[in-house]
Amino acid sequence: MSDIINILPDSVANQIAAGEVVERPASAVKEMLENAMDAGATAIELIVKDAGRTLIQVIDNGCGMSDSDARLCFERHATSKIHKADDLFAIRTMGFRGEALAAIAAVSQVELRTRQHDSELGTEVQVEGSDVKEQCPCNCAPGTSIAVKNLFFNIPARRNFLKKDSIELSHIEEIFRRVALANCDKDFAFHHNGRLLYDLKASNLAQRIAGLFGNNYKERLFHVHEETDIVRIDGYIGKAEYAKRTRGEQYLFVNNRFIKHIGLSSAIEKAYAELIPERTYPSYFVMLEVDPSKIDVNIHPTKTEVKFTDESVIYAILRAATKKALGQFSLATELEFNPSTEFDFAPAPKDYTPQPPKVSYNSNYNPFASQSETRFDSFSSKKSPSRHEFEHFFDDTDKPSARSEECASTPSLIPNAEHATGTTQKTSEMPLSYLGRYIVSTLKSGILIIDQQRAHERIIYERLMLRMEQSQAAAQQLLFPVNCRFNAGDSEVLMEMFPELKQLGFAIEPLGQNTFVVTATPVDITDNDIQSLLEQAISDYKGSMMQKFSDRKQSLCAALARQTAVKAGATLYPQEMQQLIADLFSCQVPHTAPSGKRTMFILNEQELAERFK
Ligand code: ADP
Ligand code: MG
Repeated sequence: MSDIINILPDSVANQIAAGEVVERPASAVKEMLENAMDAGATAIELIVKDAGRTLIQVIDNGCGMSDSDARLCFERHATSKIHKADDLFAIRTMGFRGEALAAIAAVSQVELRTRQHDSELGTEVQVEGSDVKEQCPCNCAPGTSIAVKNLFFNIPARRNFLKKDSIELSHIEEIFRRVALANCDKDFAFHHNGRLLYDLKASNLAQRIAGLFGNNYKERLFHVHEETDIVRIDGYIGKAEYAKRTRGEQYLFVNNRFIKHIGLSSAIEKAYAELIPERTYPSYFVMLEVDPSKIDVNIHPTKTEVKFTDESVIYAILRAATKKALGQFSLATELEFNPSTEFDFAPAPKDYTPQPPKVSYNSNYNPFASQSETRFDSFSSKKSPSRHEFEHFFDDTDKPSARSEECASTPSLIPNAEHATGTTQKTSEMPLSYLGRYIVSTLKSGILIIDQQRAHERIIYERLMLRMEQSQAAAQQLLFPVNCRFNAGDSEVLMEMFPELKQLGFAIEPLGQNTFVVTATPVDITDNDIQSLLEQAISDYKGSMMQKFSDRKQSLCAALARQTAVKAGATLYPQEMQQLIADLFSCQVPHTAPSGKRTMFILNEQELAERFK
């Protein structure tokens, strides 16, 4: 039988390797920015067109390459960063595998121009699908410019797999943020389709965070700092009240390398335990420095995962440092803390009591006002079939009549324990009480248990959906227009959401530079933090785009409802609880929240009897 094994040509091997290294434009951006950092650049420019489909260019003022290196760098396993196996244990550079440029060149058309600082002339190399097409001397500034054109031009399947531009751009932006945060002492500029999205001058981490995320971040963060023999910690952590529903803004770096590390992330998150509600996540920007011989960055091809020798010790120190920054308790005697004063953000004052996240409520909304007085006329008057379902549960004495006059003067869904404790159950037609986050009521037919937050989400969600369907935007003008600023990717997403937001009653106009002015919001939503509200809506919307969730409107209404709903721990007046229950049963789908999770259940007598067997 003849031999059947052959060695794959380099071009094919490179394409296969490219699959691992270059998944999407953002992966090429990551490799190129990291190469610039490794080359000692102090000023880096990223130029992108069409979210990286047609052009990704990185221009740096780093060391540049010699004529022959300029050609060699596209070979597989061509690296200047390690020479022998031992070097693997003392890595201080970002790259070391020598795979990235080979992989990128295998799936695009690359134009490299590079010049070493002591050379008169530079060199230009053109590569297309791994083939070097041309190399010639050229005039160029010292440093390196690599332009990657038409990514995946030779792999249509990969090209077609790319997501819409706003998503690819937000991936690129995320990479840019990570590199820019890790190197705040360098200048960075980022252009997309001719627009300058970021222009960041070398400064400190605090300024860099403000430059990337907006100046308002200065109020949102505490400084965290700790130095020990094993690890040096420096950075900023978000105040508890700014915790978010997604893990988006969690940045952890080791020796200037962005990492993902479940253990260390949870060290930070655990320090927030009980300060923030379940399933919300604090923001953090934390830099760790450890001896490079005590970490292994080699375990993951895209190198965001890292192993530490002293993991449990670092965990404990990081957690303690975070707690201390949050002002929870002083560990000064336990560990020698030495807070630095050179940053703009002060640590939490000693008497700081962390605030729970702001709860949004409509201070004008009085659920007990008569129907004609409410601003929800179009909804309140709507009798859905499930109303019967509701009435079925209560007999005449149990049925909440939410329109009693006494109730009309009661403040609305204000989650404030003070109000609740000061109120006597004046008009409680239905025996109600709280069990943790649940409202419990006894019915003729059993025990009704309602998750207050989910129930309210359902109610708001259906109101918003109805507005959209009927195109009956009911807007309230804001007394003071609010300016909001987002990162570039989010701004693009927000603009895509404009039609839906307008349908709901938002009035938003772009002011340029990723800033928007909001002059009106839907009447159902009176959120005093419109920036956070929109941030959440954008982040949910992005999530739904990625999952190809068919109905973007649904996801937008669900996000807004979740953000605006009265929170699980808030205490309501008995009358408010009753109104909530009445409103819930007026919904078309009262049993589940927009997320699909249960809003309530009823334990009937039979089930109770089972338990007493
Ligand atoms: P690695 O970074 O793992 O060494 P790459 O394929 O990313 O592998 O790059 C190969 C080599 O090309 C690098 O080791 C470096 O010597 C050179 N190189 C790449 N980009 C630059 C740049 N921007 N400036 C100077 N040299 C560069
Ligand atoms: Mg590299």
